[in-house]
Amino acid sequence: MDVTKMTISELAGYTYDCECNRTHNVDVKKIVIGENAINEAVDYIIEQTDKMVMIICDDTTYELAGMKFEKLLPTSQTYIIHERNNVHVAPNESYVGEVLIKIPKNIDFFLAVGSGVINDITRQVSYMMDKPYVVFGTAPSMDGYASSTSSLIINNIKESIQGQSPVGIFADSKMLQNAPYEMITAGFGDVIGKYNAIREWQFGRDYKKEHYCQQIVDAVMSAVKKCETNASNLKKREPQAIISIMEGLILAGMTMGMYQNTRPASGAEHHIVHYWDVDCIKRGVEHPLHGNSVGVGTVIICLLYDLVKNHLPVPVMELDGSKISSILTEAGCKISPVDLNISRELLKESIVKGHTMSSKFTILTYLSQEKPKVLENAAEQICDMFFY
Ligand SMILES: [Zn+2]
Ligand SMILES: [Zn+2]
Repeated sequence: MDVTKMTISELAGYTYDCECNRTHNVDVKKIVIGENAINEAVDYIIEQTDKMVMIICDDTTYELAGMKFEKLLPTSQTYIIHERNNVHVAPNESYVGEVLIKIPKNIDFFLAVGSGVINDITRQVSYMMDKPYVVFGTAPSMDGYASSTSSLIINNIKESIQGQSPVGIFADSKMLQNAPYEMITAGFGDVIGKYNAIREWQFGRDYKKEHYCQQIVDAVMSAVKKCETNASNLKKREPQAIISIMEGLILAGMTMGMYQNTRPASGAEHHIVHYWDVDCIKRGVEHPLHGNSVGVGTVIICLLYDLVKNHLPVPVMELDGSKISSILTEAGCKISPVDLNISRELLKESIVKGHTMSSKFTILTYLSQEKPKVLENAAEQICDMFFY
């Protein structure tokens, strides 16, 4: 069966020997995005266990869906992670520790009700307790739903920590449609970033002879294209546009699991965002939602590729940066680092030192190793475009 033609629900639980000579495996067994998702999630969980289920949510997602799950699941306990001093719940050691301490011993199964943060915390806690979990996604805001790793902040440093994929992903289409708009633009930005992620992978393939999987690339690209076509309908919150983003995000997360690496879904655009996030964490301020930064990061890296194209050792995929900017704008996403409160100094530093954020080969790795002066000049030129 051609994986690029399969829906995410068909891909769930699928294993195949790929023409890239690797076996790809989708750990998520069940995916439902629809109007009856809460009931379907309840039925699925009851099929998996007749023992105690722990529902993990925050104040907002408790109101949205946690409360309903509590009523519908016959044996469940709920733990609501509250905000502290009006600061949003964060995926850090303190909150993971808090939840771990509060888990009664008889828990057999976990249900995360929320998006990025709640999913990461539940992934980690369930993994440590060696129990499966299901996520009920409340916003199409990031691509980590299907992921097996969590991005956790430990001692003020953001680390990618091994965890497990959920066995099921469920989302109510109406709820996704009504999610705060900045969460929807974040999801959109994270999906659009995949354009550059794929360009970087091809660069790695052609220059570093890195392993590459065409089928996974085709699957990611089809998800991106679907979102892109729906950009103008996003502000109207058209159901199909919102569902496409959620599907694109889940698919992107799945491809990382299938490839056992984040290669299909992140490149230099993520590394500079990581640099900005680390700066916020160090200063003790909240950083923008991941995908809203990734959209801006993608714009910056497209500018970088344009500026240095005559210095690259192999031909790279042509991406029209101004078209990407206009698609992002059309969807209501930010495209300037100024709108994210990023200073000129930080922007320059992130371009010059962004390669230190990951061992993955990207344009930042290449330039910092082979053409540091070119990188420095290009960073300066990019800063001039936003700060004048
Ligand atoms: Zn493959
Ligand atoms: Zn991302």
